[in-house]
Amino acid sequence: MLKDEDRIFTNLYNDLGPDISSAQNRGDWQNTSEIIKKGKEWIINEIKSSELRGRGGAGFPTGLKWSFAPKEIGSRPHYLVINADESEPGTCKDRDILRFEPHKLIEGCLLSAYAVNANKCYIYIRGEYFNEGNKLQEAINEAYEKKLIGTNACDSGWDFDIYIHYGAGAYICGEETALLESLEGKKGQPRLKPPFPALIGLYGCPTIINNVETIAVVPTILRRGAKWFSSIGKPKNTGTKIYCISGNVNNPCNVEEEMGIPLKELIEKHAGGVIGGWENLQAVIPGGSSMPLLPKKICETINMDFDSLVEQKSGLGTAGIVVINKDQDIIKCMARIARFYKHESCGQCTPCREGSGWMWRMLERMAKGEASRDEVNMLMDVTKQIEGHTICAFGEGSAWPVQGLLRHFKKEVAKRNNFNPLINKNKKIPYLVDQHLLEK
Ligand code: SF4
Repeated sequence: MLKDEDRIFTNLYNDLGPDISSAQNRGDWQNTSEIIKKGKEWIINEIKSSELRGRGGAGFPTGLKWSFAPKEIGSRPHYLVINADESEPGTCKDRDILRFEPHKLIEGCLLSAYAVNANKCYIYIRGEYFNEGNKLQEAINEAYEKKLIGTNACDSGWDFDIYIHYGAGAYICGEETALLESLEGKKGQPRLKPPFPALIGLYGCPTIINNVETIAVVPTILRRGAKWFSSIGKPKNTGTKIYCISGNVNNPCNVEEEMGIPLKELIEKHAGGVIGGWENLQAVIPGGSSMPLLPKKICETINMDFDSLVEQKSGLGTAGIVVINKDQDIIKCMARIARFYKHESCGQCTPCREGSGWMWRMLERMAKGEASRDEVNMLMDVTKQIEGHTICAFGEGSAWPVQGLLRHFKKEVAKRNNFNPLINKNKKIPYLVDQHLLEK
């Protein structure tokens, strides 16, 4: 369990105030110029040796990502872009950083931008976070007034400006290249990679894109040292993490904990336990809706870090933990998630555009007990046709939850649908077309 002195986000519940003087009392903006004076290379190396991995979902090593930015500014400016388009169902951690710990983010932006040679930073916030955006803007204004950012930020000789940009509610704009397209004023559709944004990003210029939480922990790492950060958690899964616990728990909450904490401890200790008791647990989605669910048996012992979850064919993702107890219809839950992905697909790739609709319709039928045995196998096949065959990771994000259901709850699906051969006989076109279209 995380010791209080190792906590990075000390105002996660807004007990102490988000304003600049409260933030400074908590240690933000202390010796920022001295850190900058240590140089870009020192900052990047420190972040590399802290083994910080991106907190937005993919878990890519942050220091390594920064090292991809060109070392010198050429004919094109460099940009830092902060992904605050937090839209993953079950995830609400960046929201609390934006409204309660904005100065950690702003200071992190300055230090990270300096390390990657960027004088400008754009923070892309989802449109629904209007109030959080206002809070952040207030904090940015405070930082400008105190000359912590702007021309000669913190007396470091580095000029640095921050701009907030609101999204318009599309989930896919959380994908980094779709976010860049949207920021440029175009339709938010992912770009083909390569080229990667570190070389050709915003307006065709070198751009580093990081999640809010990733950047907000940077100042504390640089202040307290990479060794301190990497001593928390386990190798390659270091530091602290904000976990969002929601669903069928007695006390849904956001909590900062050590990376690799047992899932059971998180639920029992911080979220007040499963509604109806631990024995009433059915499954947990461990990392936001795009990660495969885990049945109770695995939840008993699993640790919440990147590698432990991958071993169980799931993922830490955004650490948005959704607890599902036995009062819920698990097939219906997955059908609902599939509907979300069908709705949010940007439509560029055929497997994702068409497949997400197929999965949703088939799951709806399965939830009603109207599916055939063939359809269950076909559903798995559809997920495999999507996975790895699309421009962006949305394809996997839509297919994995369905795979999780079929991997762990196939018996329930079979029981519900009875696999009655008569259903096969009566259904002429079981999966290609919406039933209501046929009826028309
Ligand atoms: Fe768009 Fe889906 Fe293709 Fe991503 S995978 S680019 S969301 S169609």
